[in-house]
Amino acid sequence: MTPPGPGAIASLRGCFAGRLLTSPEEMAPFLTDWRRRWHGRAQAVAMPDTARDVAAILGWCHANRVPVVPQGGNTGLAGGSVPDGTGRAVVVSLGRLNRIRGIDAANNSLVAEAGCLLHDVQLAAERAGRLFPLSLAAEASCTIGGNLATNAGGVHVLRYGTARALCLGLEVATPSGEIWDGLRALRKNTAGLDLRDLFIGAEGTLGIITAAVLQLYPRPQAREVGYVAVPSPAAALDLLGLAQDRAGAGLTAFELMSEACLAAVLAQAAGARRPFAAAHPWYVLIEVSAWGDPPHAHVLPALLERAVERGFALDAVLAASEAQAARLWALREGISDAQAADGAGLKHDVALPLSAVPEFIAAADAAVARLCPGLRPGVFGHLGDGNVHYNVLQAAGPRGPAETARFLAQEAAVAQCVHDLVLARGGTVSAEHGLGVLRAAEALRLLPEVEVRMMRAVRRALDPNGIMNPGKGV
Ligand SMILES: Cc1cc2nc3c(=O)[nH]c(=O)nc-3n(C[C@H](O)[C@H](O)[C@H](O)COP(=O)(O)OP(=O)(O)OC[C@H]3O[C@@H](n4cnc5c(N)ncnc54)[C@H](O)[C@@H]3O)c2cc1C
Repeated sequence: MTPPGPGAIASLRGCFAGRLLTSPEEMAPFLTDWRRRWHGRAQAVAMPDTARDVAAILGWCHANRVPVVPQGGNTGLAGGSVPDGTGRAVVVSLGRLNRIRGIDAANNSLVAEAGCLLHDVQLAAERAGRLFPLSLAAEASCTIGGNLATNAGGVHVLRYGTARALCLGLEVATPSGEIWDGLRALRKNTAGLDLRDLFIGAEGTLGIITAAVLQLYPRPQAREVGYVAVPSPAAALDLLGLAQDRAGAGLTAFELMSEACLAAVLAQAAGARRPFAAAHPWYVLIEVSAWGDPPHAHVLPALLERAVERGFALDAVLAASEAQAARLWALREGISDAQAADGAGLKHDVALPLSAVPEFIAAADAAVARLCPGLRPGVFGHLGDGNVHYNVLQAAGPRGPAETARFLAQEAAVAQCVHDLVLARGGTVSAEHGLGVLRAAEALRLLPEVEVRMMRAVRRALDPNGIMNPGKGV
């Protein structure tokens, strides 16, 4: 396919309101991902103002067989939001579709356009006395459309579920330029196939999400936050069992991180302080929320005392104020930034049955050490969801372009090694970041053939010209 010439791009400019960027300088921020790992080219970046504009752009791309790359906040970690190097694509950036269309507090629902920042949706819910519980470290930059397109997880999944569980309805611009209005604020609907669920997690391969009805919750009145030193991932899992017994549905976060992760945050984040006098091998950040008037909090002190008695915990600090709670959370939320600042990384976003996580981490440590001696695992994750970010970092020493290239050349071998261990334990190679370009080959290698065939059939049916985010996913 040859790209339409400048005259054709002028015709795209005429078919929608909003901005169309075509100069290299203006387009540059949209052509590189957050980690600066993937750099692409495009013939234009379209910034539509309305769902109707998005549909018009897609209709034009469909007619001209021009590839489309949907983009929200461009914080994705799998390279799904940037175009390839051919220069044929139009990037559709949703940032100007950023209105909260309405809130129905009695129905616990809110309608947001796809380009709304996650943080702005959280604030809108808060103003209505409600909670939108999706929360992740990139929330000031990522968008609701991107969250839904990747079925984002974050730190509260064990209580509230992933983005999919927080979405009641969708509005979507289809690849041929129509608008599907599925903005239903319903908890129950069995009228045919669930199209909403098709678009969630599809990484922009089936259409562009333009708005969503989101599920809200009552706001907790109080929370307890503790940072706990544990001897091993197995002990962390025992602590999780105890916490679930004691706190029930009040347990809203349970995050695991290794000493290497804490050390990276302490080295990179201004003002971060080690919570304990000594270093320990692993840590858990635990959050218990409370509702009611007065809220029934104060679960953590007795829980952690019991955990120390039983050998599940070595030491613990409890936040005495919201400011302290935020400082403890910053030690967890700073890990991605700290690892990015520390150099290149080989990232794995895997999920396993919870019971398999400790043994998987030990097996992966041993296998990676055998395969590439000297590399450093920097492991953290949402243990409450069985989601491990099994990241492998560059060895200590020089970090010039040659060393980095040599390090990245091991990516495929390390990924195969880690993913084979995950599959053998009944896990998945993409828990919450999506396949993008990073995991497309691994998904093809590991997913059952019939599953890939069904996915491709759905893609062909909705997008017969194959314009939607080509090269991403399977
Ligand atoms: C510091 C940091 C921490 C993170 N922590 C987490 C975490 O805890 N949990 C987690 O799940 N993720 C996490 N992420 C990853 C990332 O923030 C999420 O994947 C987020 O959901 C992406 O949203 P976005 O708006 O930036 O999407 P983008 O990066 O712009 O796009 C992501 C994918 O969605 C597609 N897309 C975007 N918008 C639309 C749309 N409107 N319609 C259709 N397709 C679309 C793109 O084509 C691409 O394939 C983290 C990222 C960073 C940088």
